[in-house]
Amino acid sequence: TDPMRKAGRHFLQIPGPSAVPDRILRAISMQTIDHRGPDFADVGQKALKGMKTIFRTDQNVFIFPSSGTGAWEAALVNTMSPGDTVLMYETGHFATLWQKMAKKIGLNPVFIEGDWRGGADPQAIEDALRKDTDHEIKAVCVVHNETSTGSVSPIAEVRAAMDATGHPALLMVDSISGLASVPFEFDAWGVDVCVSGSQKGLMLPPGLSFNAVSDKALEVAKSAKMQRSYWDWLDMVGPNATGYFPYTPGTNLLYGLNEAVDMLHEEGLENVFERHRRHGAATRAAVRAWGLEVLCARQGQESGVLTAVMMPEGHSADAFRATTLAHYDISLGNGLSKVADKVFRIGHLGDFNDLMLMATLSGVEMGLAKAGVPHESGGVQAAMDHLKTHEAVKVAAE
Ligand code: PLP
Repeated sequence: TDPMRKAGRHFLQIPGPSAVPDRILRAISMQTIDHRGPDFADVGQKALKGMKTIFRTDQNVFIFPSSGTGAWEAALVNTMSPGDTVLMYETGHFATLWQKMAKKIGLNPVFIEGDWRGGADPQAIEDALRKDTDHEIKAVCVVHNETSTGSVSPIAEVRAAMDATGHPALLMVDSISGLASVPFEFDAWGVDVCVSGSQKGLMLPPGLSFNAVSDKALEVAKSAKMQRSYWDWLDMVGPNATGYFPYTPGTNLLYGLNEAVDMLHEEGLENVFERHRRHGAATRAAVRAWGLEVLCARQGQESGVLTAVMMPEGHSADAFRATTLAHYDISLGNGLSKVADKVFRIGHLGDFNDLMLMATLSGVEMGLAKAGVPHESGGVQAAMDHLKTHEAVKVAAE
């Protein structure tokens, strides 16, 4: 390791954890209080209410002191019984991990194969449900923003496809990296369980996870037979009603969460979505100008959270990322499992603005040159031109 101090700020441009804004760091640095004492009720209630406005639901929200993976498990063990069939869609690495988890805990996942270059295909889901005349499938599980590929699944269309079949399966969505970055509507889209985490669009450190739960899914939980204890929604309901939790919550992260929700509403969620959409478009303009290819190949499904870039044949994405980190102090995301060493990922999520994007893309362009990756220069210029000619259209904050 280089013992020399690095001047200036490190650029954490992986697709989560995202850099934590100072306001949130300050909120987290408040003294920890008694989580069963009278002052805590306001903190807990504000957090639970606040997250409903982010999920856009009037139904139920549960908060766990865990990473997102825990909330995945919570979604499954609260609603399923041993051996139940779940229909899952291979959008990428995270969908694959969720499917592996389902297997590991004793469910029977049916995995619709995907090519990692777009979101879930509603037609394929509809076809699978139509074949399931005995209603063996108890849930359809889809990753909203696939962080390994930079593709967004059309959740409203998945719901419509499910409704078209009249199949009673629950719709479960992983929006760990989508929530508070790209549009998500729990109630309006008819989602039954949404899984999320703190370290992406919510701008917090890792350590909190979430389940938004429809009244229908909560009812299902009452008869679901998977073993569960720590994750049991039904143990949460009582204490949550007054802002408390059945065990020690992540008190300081909840301070941060309340600050984050305020910040998101001060900007306006629609403006947050538009900011990331625009930064995604500018990033893709840069990638095209470099003569490289974006992994997401489905127009309209490109993510505002991150852009996965394919390396030219015969060049190592990991060597490029190591060079870029060493010379420009910027962390870029690696390719995961099937696309390991073949793609790198540029995160443009969280508390992020035009100049931060320009610096990020400059780091990538300089890194491509430094690492000897064949490319055209001019990507940074193309992104800047995009930003200049596509002013953000702002709506009044909520
Ligand atoms: N699902 C998606 C889409 C993710 O991006 C991640 C993490 O990056 C996970 C699941 C797993 O979450 P965690 O690493 O917080 O357990």
